[in-house]
Parts: sequence; C-alpha cells; structure tokens
Amino acid sequence: MSFVPVIGLEIHTQLQTNSKLFCGCSTTFGAPPNEHTCPVCLGLPGALPVLNRRAVELAVKAALALGCTVHETSIFARKNYFYPDLPKGYQISQYDKPLATEGALEFESRGETKRVGIIRVHLEEDAGKSLHEGLHDSDRMTALDFNRSGVPLIEIVSHPDVRSAADAGEYFSRMRAILVATGVTDGNMEEGSLRCDANVSVRRSDATGLGVKTEIKNINSFRNVQRALEYEIDRQIGVLESGERVVHETRLFDPASGRTLSMRSKEEAHDYRYFPEPDLPPLQIAADWIEQLRRALPELPDARRSRLVAQYAIPDYDAGVLTQSAALADYFEATAAASGNAKAASNWVMGEVTRKMNELGTPIGEVPLGPEALGGLIRLVDSGTISGPTAKEVFEKMYSTGRAAAEIVEAEGLARIDDEGAVQAAVMKVLDANADAVKQYRAGKKQTYGFLVGQVIKSMGGKANPALVNSIMRRALDKDPA
Ligand SMILES: [Zn+2]
Repeated sequence: MSFVPVIGLEIHTQLQTNSKLFCGCSTTFGAPPNEHTCPVCLGLPGALPVLNRRAVELAVKAALALGCTVHETSIFARKNYFYPDLPKGYQISQYDKPLATEGALEFESRGETKRVGIIRVHLEEDAGKSLHEGLHDSDRMTALDFNRSGVPLIEIVSHPDVRSAADAGEYFSRMRAILVATGVTDGNMEEGSLRCDANVSVRRSDATGLGVKTEIKNINSFRNVQRALEYEIDRQIGVLESGERVVHETRLFDPASGRTLSMRSKEEAHDYRYFPEPDLPPLQIAADWIEQLRRALPELPDARRSRLVAQYAIPDYDAGVLTQSAALADYFEATAAASGNAKAASNWVMGEVTRKMNELGTPIGEVPLGPEALGGLIRLVDSGTISGPTAKEVFEKMYSTGRAAAEIVEAEGLARIDDEGAVQAAVMKVLDANADAVKQYRAGKKQTYGFLVGQVIKSMGGKANPALVNSIMRRALDKDPA
C-alpha cells in the first residue's frame, strides 16, 4: 500500500522595519534583554497600539509578490492565549478579514512545475522570548525577554498543495528568495527572521479526503523542513500501517536526533476566542497605494531566472544558481556586460568567485574583485593573451591584491607565448629528451602524441598557445621520419 503526503506550510517572517508593529521601540536584534520595551509592547494596562505604516507597506509588497489580492479593508483581531512571553494575554493578529488572500508560488522542482496556492497573508505581532537556559538561576527560573514582543510579522499560509518533503524545502527556499528580493525581510534564519510551521498528513493513495494531520512548529532551515517532514511522513505511515490512528497534535522537530516529538494536543481556532481588536480601527489601504507598490516591485527571482536564460543564453541550472540572491545575479550581469562573454562570466561567478566567497566567508557585496576587473580577465582569455590555467593563477593574484588582470600579466610575464621560434625550440627539446616516445609514436602508438604535447606546454609554464604547439609538433613528427 502506498501513501501520499499532504503538506501545507505556514511561514512567519519578521518585517524589516526599524520600529515595532504598534509602538516606537527598536526592532534591532541582539540588544541586552528588555532594552527595547515600552508600556505598549509590555502590555501594560491602558497602553494603546498605533499601527506602523512601514510594516503595512512591506506586508502589501509581500502579498503582491505572491500574486495575492490585497484587500482595501482588513481587520485586526485578538488571538487569546496564555503564555508567559505574551504579557497582554493576547496577540494582535488578523483572522477572518486578513490583509490579503489567494495567491500562489510556482517553482521548478526536479524538472516539474509545482504550484502551491497561498490562502492568506496577514499581519501580526511577534511574542517575547522565554529564556530557559544560560542564566545563573536557570535551573529554577525561566527568564523573559520582551525585545521581540511586538516585532512585526506576516504569516503566509499555503494550501495543502505540497506532496513531498523535498518540495516543502524548495517552497520555503523560494519563499525566502522572494521575501528578500522585495526587501520585506532580511531573511536571517539564525536570528529567527524566517520560521516555518508544517502541517502534514498522509493518506492511502487510493483514498480521497484528508488524513489526520500533525503540525510541526518553528523549523528554521530549508534542510530541517525537509528532514522534519521526511521523519514525520514515515512516522505517520508506520502508525497507519500498524492499524493505529494518527493523533491531531503539535510536534517539535529536534535537529540533533532528526525526530519529531509530541508537544501538545492541537488547539482549534475556537480555543483562541478570536474577536476584532477594539483598540484599532479597520485597516484601510487606498487602492492607489496598492497600485503604486505593485508598480515598484522589483524583478522577482523566478522571472529573473527566465530572463537570464533568454537574454544571455546560459543554462537554466546556471540561472538558478545565480538568482539565489539578487546581489549575485547583479554581479553576474555586470560581469557579463564587462566581458562580453556571458557563459564565461557565469562559469567564473559560479566557480572561482563562489569558491573564494565560501572559503573566506565573504558575502558577494564584499568581494574585493569587482565585475569590471573579472570582465577584464575574461577578455584576456578570450583574446588569447593568456591561457586557461594562467587565468586561474591571475584570478588568485587579483583577488588578493586588487590589481587588474592586464597589469599582473604584464608585470609577471604571464602572457601566452605565440612566438613560433620559442615554441619550435621547446618542441625540439622535448623530442630530443623523449626519443623513446617519439619512436613509439612513429611505430603507430598514437597515444604518445598527447604526452609529448603536454611536455611542451609544461616546459613553457602553461603559457604556450596550444594550437601553435600542435601545429609545430605535427610538422616536426611528420617531417623527420628517422
Ligand atoms: Zn514598545
């Protein structure tokens, strides 16, 4: 019996604002505990919320980038629950009248186009943080840090359209790329700017309807979304195959063991006793503001990927790698323009430049070798001034010194050798030194030819023009059949 997983994802992302959603406190990450707090975000009696316009703008941008309909009127609602990091006893969120509804995210996954519908995008505030460890009395106490309390979030809820753990990871990764490209979030997953909850159930492939689902909370990497779902899908199949029933519950993923663990039985919406937030008027967004934001949207990663393939005739794979960040794609496009050779630019950016970035932990914005300089290096290769192996050597020197390619080639005598006399002399020297190989070649063992050419190129420090070496070598071998 085979089973089909049915997965829906809820992504929470912190909006890149300077201040919180309903007060003027800073959103800067990493401040000492409770530094960024005030009566509003501490939930003190009588404090009233004032909505942050910038947060609304970013939420609208995200919704538009996902193809959602942004509603001119939406309603804030209280989601009531008790938790020590939620001092008001409720979270201000949106419920039956959210900011935006019905969009989709489409992406290529293993050669197929996947479409995941978006049910809604709504605004809400983040909660504070409970600190269970790291303090001198952590064995007895839980401490509370309210710096995060009131930080603006959007929640993006998908339809249960995802059918594999791998696609779920891909969806999360594409979502991050879109939210970063539109400036909605900084996308910093280590700092919790982007988190994912996954709802998953499995059903027999011959059944209709949905199985009982579980929710896995707060997964914070693409890889862990995939791992958590792989584990949970297998776990649920095991439960069903043994004749038991899956329990509707919330589970936590433990990255160390790769397992999901039961956390609590799942609340239903009515447990939260939602009602309209009486301290905030309905959120009204003017249609012309929405249109203005729509027009100002940047090119989205998937559109850019298609354009790079069409405009530069590079493989889709290359375009996929290059559009993982807008800055990397910018760097590639500038290098392609400077070099006049897009495929070579793509190879260098995906190859040597990325290797250096990873090796040194340098973000693309801080790579010391600019697109103009890299373009100059590619032009030297294309014009035949330097050979491929020499180019890598020059690249290393450019990277560490910031000098231009032509300058390094000139100063260090790295230019390709096109001097016929010099190549002729090197060929003769190699033939003299390798009389046995020459004899074998003339006896019909043609493989020795490559060896002899290699010896010449090596003896000239990799700088000899290979075409010239070949023609002189052939002439020498054919002319003198001793
Ligand atoms: Zn505050």
